Amino acid sequence: MSAPAMVRNADLATLSTFRLPARAAELVTLDHLDQLEHLPEEAPPTLILGGGSNTVFLADWPGRILLNRLRGIRLTNLDNDEVRVEAAAGENWHALVRYCIDHGLHGLENLILIPGSVGAAPIQNIGAYGVELSDSLESVNAWDWRERRLVQLANLDCGLRYRDSRFKSSDQGRFLITSVSLRLSRRFRPNTGYQSLAESLARHHHGQPAPRQLAAAVMRLRRHRLPDPARLPNAGSFFKNPVLPAEQAQALLEDFPRLPHWPMAGKHLKLAAGWLLERLGFRGYRIGDAGVYHNHALVLVNHGQATTAQLLDLIEHIQSAVQDEYGIDLEAEPTLVGSPPA
Ligand SMILES: Cc1cc2nc3c(=O)[nH]c(=O)nc-3n(C[C@H](O)[C@H](O)[C@H](O)COP(=O)(O)OP(=O)(O)OC[C@H]3O[C@@H](n4cnc5c(N)ncnc54)[C@H](O)[C@@H]3O)c2cc1C
Repeated sequence: MSAPAMVRNADLATLSTFRLPARAAELVTLDHLDQLEHLPEEAPPTLILGGGSNTVFLADWPGRILLNRLRGIRLTNLDNDEVRVEAAAGENWHALVRYCIDHGLHGLENLILIPGSVGAAPIQNIGAYGVELSDSLESVNAWDWRERRLVQLANLDCGLRYRDSRFKSSDQGRFLITSVSLRLSRRFRPNTGYQSLAESLARHHHGQPAPRQLAAAVMRLRRHRLPDPARLPNAGSFFKNPVLPAEQAQALLEDFPRLPHWPMAGKHLKLAAGWLLERLGFRGYRIGDAGVYHNHALVLVNHGQATTAQLLDLIEHIQSAVQDEYGIDLEAEPTLVGSPPA
């Protein structure tokens, strides 16, 4: 197997769904596992990119971008009910969910239409409509840059939490995820507990939805609430829902009883960041071409020619308004790459 294809001084704007202008010193496309060994040990700083839907480039990247295009899906029957689905990291997540539904494998329906690659799914433990990747993840195969060998990490070793994992925190940059193994069921047990999903199913008379009906309901909700990055560049929810100790959250709920919230492990509550922003009137707000989506205050968008400076001003303005009003620090959800220009 030969060395992977490489482009110097590569344009990154089209490789990130937020589409800020940026360039990388090197762009390397990885489409076969054996190519890993051809990468020099003394590598420049390396950043891995899948679909670029959760990465925002604030500056040029001085090193190498490794574009993960590893492909392949393999099914293994485990018993009458369960099937292991091993998908290579460069597969498209949404296409994988469709593939599983088409093959009568269940558990991912609520995660349909999330953009990006399979390999990025564990990085922030993707989740939507009451389901998270951690519910069906069995293990992750990865290249360990530190040990220069392939390793397998079981679900519990991945440190998966709400929009977080060891890959995004303590071991950031250490692993290149090469494939993901999911444990799915041939029996369909729909998860319809999420309020807006239950309401949408009820409106369409699908109290007991079939798999495709559940997936269709999720897609309807997503298309209504979220901008299509191909038409209006964005990175999905730009801020994480804040997770606060129950006592602090309860104090806030006394002042704002309509604030949606969900119980979390360890006596914590997760609060709806979108509600906090909508109440502050942020829908449709903009600084230059960096703006807040008119239909969902948690989504920041690039109206065409947004600059890094405009986006940073917008982020700072939103974060300080939330701190002043609610005493909460809002944390960005996407990976923000590069120091902003001084
Ligand atoms: C319109 C829209 C809606 C969205 N909705 C949701 C949602 O409902 N729920 C949700 O959780 N997220 C959502 N997101 C965010 C995004 O889709 C997910 O985080 C997705 O998993 C990112 O995949 P990607 O391949 O595009 O990641 P990228 O942006 O390419 O990478 C994201 C991070 O993962 C790292 N990474 C990527 N691949 C690998 C790999 N193989 N090994 C190691 N590190 C890697 C990158 O270095 C980067 O730090 C949404 C985004 C958009 C634009």
